[in-house]
Amino acid sequence: MDTVKYLLTEDQMPAAWYNIQADLPEPLPPVLHPATGKPIGPADLEPLFPPALIMQEVSQERMIEIPEEVQTIYRQWRPSPLYRARRLEQFLDTPAKIYYKYEGVSPAGSHKPNTAVPQAYYNKQAGVKRLTTETGAGQWGSALAFAGALLDLEVLVFMVKVSYRQKPYRHALMNTYGARVVPSPSEETSAGRAILAEHPDSTGSLGIAISEAVEVAVQDEQSKYCLGSVLNHVLLHQTVVGQEALAQLEQVGDYPDVIIGCTGGGSNFAGIAFPFLGAKLRGGRDVRIIAVEPAACPTLTRGLYAYDYGDTAHLTPLVKMHTLGSGFVPEGIHAGGLRYHGMGPLVSHVVRLGLVEPRAEHQLGCFEAGLTFARTEGILPAPEPTHAVKAAIDEALRCKEAGTSKTILFNLCGHGHFDLQAYIDYQAGRLRDYEYSQEEVAMALAGLPAVDG
Ligand SMILES: *Cc1c(COP(=O)(O)O)cnc(C)c1O
Repeated sequence: MDTVKYLLTEDQMPAAWYNIQADLPEPLPPVLHPATGKPIGPADLEPLFPPALIMQEVSQERMIEIPEEVQTIYRQWRPSPLYRARRLEQFLDTPAKIYYKYEGVSPAGSHKPNTAVPQAYYNKQAGVKRLTTETGAGQWGSALAFAGALLDLEVLVFMVKVSYRQKPYRHALMNTYGARVVPSPSEETSAGRAILAEHPDSTGSLGIAISEAVEVAVQDEQSKYCLGSVLNHVLLHQTVVGQEALAQLEQVGDYPDVIIGCTGGGSNFAGIAFPFLGAKLRGGRDVRIIAVEPAACPTLTRGLYAYDYGDTAHLTPLVKMHTLGSGFVPEGIHAGGLRYHGMGPLVSHVVRLGLVEPRAEHQLGCFEAGLTFARTEGILPAPEPTHAVKAAIDEALRCKEAGTSKTILFNLCGHGHFDLQAYIDYQAGRLRDYEYSQEEVAMALAGLPAVDG
């Protein structure tokens, strides 16, 4: 029997974030210093992050209180709705029940403001004036620009060049919130200039953009760096999603048999799954948990679980995670938010412990699932969560074949209103699937740093 009850405020919003580190059967491997290969201490992270976020990164405390000011901002869109996809169920003619948590109701249109707001808040508290960051699809940049506007902080965003060209409305939104957006690789940093010297036509990658944003933050006293995924404190902030889902399902007397999320760096996935996984680890109900990634960036399904850098220029510490190698530049698929070479260490850890099933899906099947979802439920999913939609549909169809009813819960982590070009291209037959050969994957992995552990 699970004795931990997540604390909700009067309006059914979580009052604390849930930290899965308190319930893990084995602790996370340490983060290593790139120069010494020894575990890093909090002081090593101080040039990048404010003290409160560093504390959260390493905290073993189960529940971490959400500051009042952050709760007040969350209230604009939280609790987010939990819907039962009845028309999709009918269309599939499945005995399964499909629920989805909809994070597209936030001002930026995704789950990202759940962490952008507290990150901006703790930086503001620490006296920081400017936040630097990277963005792929533009969701994270928009979320941080929004949070910066509310908390009166300057925001500088390095946006992966291919996305900058594909998604003009995304950087227009960031500009509207008051942020400055630079296509990456850029001439503004030595990391960017080094890439451009070698590959003048480089369309960029998240790894390169991270190097640029980190470089600027480290060189300026008044600036700190923010990351929209991967890190423990980011995954922590997203657990408001799963805690709300638990409470909302409880109200209708239900509990999921299967939980599904798409994974880029792992934050929306962890957000919906970790509160349920925590309950299971404490002896509560069993639940199957599926992490869905793109076959064109198959970190969990084809990468190695090894120490690697978070960025291309090797400015970040070494973390143990599933990785395709920090030099890996994935094909320009439209699910830009899922094109990262690594994975959140916490998500990698629970996959390695066998607590989560990873799965890879090709983009054409995902867009088809996205269309089915839009035509039944009316919400246009962002390209990233179409991976979760695809897996949810497949699970529901499996129930139909087996003649069993299951309760499926997935995270619809963002809407696709800025991604209509992707849907236009899909419907015009201009998209294709990518599959890497074993040789290509092996080549990308050959450059991993040599570290014991
Ligand atoms: C950023 C983003 C992702 C990928 O990041 P995760 O940390 O893996 O969640 C997925 N979907 C949307 C809508 C995003 O904005």
